[in-house]
Amino acid sequence: MNQGNPKALVDAFPLLSEELQQLLVQKGESELAAQVPGLAILERCRCGDDFCATFYVQPKPKGAYGPGHRNVSLEPQQGMLILDIVDDKIACVEVLYRDEIRRKLLVEFP
Ligand SMILES: [Zn+2]
Repeated sequence: MNQGNPKALVDAFPLLSEELQQLLVQKGESELAAQVPGLAILERCRCGDDFCATFYVQPKPKGAYGPGHRNVSLEPQQGMLILDIVDDKIACVEVLYRDEIRRKLLVEFP
């Protein structure tokens, strides 16, 4: 069980962490970029899609996100990165079509 055993994003995925910061700064989201070094992965997405490497940095909501929710889509060189922001805090990082990240995520969160 990995519950209650979060992994620092910057340790588990140093390159992704850097990439997220750069892309957020480029988007003018410097406040979100500043949160990236402090993020810890709590759990990965369990949807089972073989292209999904989404992970949660805030506890997963029971249902849908509430009114304080917005998405920030980034434009990475490879794959897709979409952040779920709840009340101005990064809650979830949707990582799609990034095999190298998915492989590592499955090892860290079996
Ligand atoms: Zn998923």
